Amino acid sequence: MKAPIVRFAPSPTGRIHIGNARTALFNWLFAKRSGGRFVLRFDDTDQERSREEYAQSIAVDLNWLGIHPDLTVRQSQRFALYDAAAQKLRDAGLLYPCYETADELDRRRKRQITRGQPPIYDRAALSLTQADHDQFKAQGRKPHWRFKLESKTIEWVDLVRGPSHIECASLSDPVLIREDGTYLYTLPSVVDDIDLGITHVIRGEDHVTNTAVQIQLFETLSGAGAAPQFGHHNLLASSSGEGLSKRSGALSITGLREAGIESLAVASLAVLTGSSDSVHAIANLEALLETFDLAHVSRNSAKFDPAELDSLSARTLHALEAEAVRARLAQLGVTGEDITPFWLAVRSNLTSLADAKLWWTVIHGEITPVIEDADFANAAAELLPPEPLDQHSWSQWTAKVKETTGRKGKALFHPLRLALTGQDQGPELAVLLPLIGKLKASARLHGRVS
Ligand code: GLU
Repeated sequence: MKAPIVRFAPSPTGRIHIGNARTALFNWLFAKRSGGRFVLRFDDTDQERSREEYAQSIAVDLNWLGIHPDLTVRQSQRFALYDAAAQKLRDAGLLYPCYETADELDRRRKRQITRGQPPIYDRAALSLTQADHDQFKAQGRKPHWRFKLESKTIEWVDLVRGPSHIECASLSDPVLIREDGTYLYTLPSVVDDIDLGITHVIRGEDHVTNTAVQIQLFETLSGAGAAPQFGHHNLLASSSGEGLSKRSGALSITGLREAGIESLAVASLAVLTGSSDSVHAIANLEALLETFDLAHVSRNSAKFDPAELDSLSARTLHALEAEAVRARLAQLGVTGEDITPFWLAVRSNLTSLADAKLWWTVIHGEITPVIEDADFANAAAELLPPEPLDQHSWSQWTAKVKETTGRKGKALFHPLRLALTGQDQGPELAVLLPLIGKLKASARLHGRVS
């Protein structure tokens, strides 16, 4: 098989959400599994609603998710190609001008429904005479343009849904160009898919109904068999019924990143929800490659609980190796020759990576110890074992403190934790103590900021 070329084609009219991430990741995984290429295509023909800031945030969001496009294109820079394709269709008599207003079409549809007919465009514009056209022109009316569908059954084997078909006789001839000359999504998408050599179109099942029209356009513009393979996956829906919408910003990737959610948790949830593999913490995106198969994506709705993201994110973090977080820790100011012991000591205690900063300060910086009983803390300080401290030091030390002071259980351990870390809870002290070191531990037990 030729290496696949796929595309993710958001319109930059808002921020992408976890449902869009599902589409992007499906494409990415599909391409990477077979050494293929991933194209990011901004569908920005609607210049009123598209914004550069959204295009940029989408690119940042994809990078954060671990998707680095091999190529990025913008439809707004490709109008010449669409104009040429439209002309080709006009020349073939397959793109025809229509003058009906939205109101007129609406009335006609209602009449059809009352008569029990399907509300399909009746192609009245095809019967307009030259005189009619001249009259519309003289009135200054501008046409919209429809693609004349061939009345046949379009069949394809969907990568997710299996054998699929649509009767084109049940469809209205689609409008490709609006009155103001702007393109709707349909034609530019097909023209780009042809021009960029897209081999597989993987997208949400809300696009199934476009497929017959698009396959006809592929065949008209590029010959029989020119259409890529299609795969329509089920859409993510939150179990609370909260819709995912680019406009509302619900569960946007930017928002999740800013909330400190791990990108790998977002990826796991976005990809594995509704698959035969259950959602779990992953160490890298490649881990998803092993089980990824579009054919295994369920056709039922893919419901997920947004609240699951927090715990999945924490579990993801707990299993990451120091190498995987080194660069991000450095951005938090957590940096040193060997961060591995630090990371291994604290990772299972983190909810989000930013919490690591606190424990870095506890180990390497200055904190204000919390001393509840100075006599007890001073006594404990005197009993600290000599350096070097190791993983046994804590139990040896606390055994002595217990013996000397008569304290045990919480009354023994809690004041030591408060003095050594300034915190009520945290990573195991047996692991922390050697990292804090005797000097700091002693100073803190004596109540000194250190
Ligand atoms: N811009 C379209 C969307 O965001 C792309 C659909 C497609 O992948 O063909 O829904």
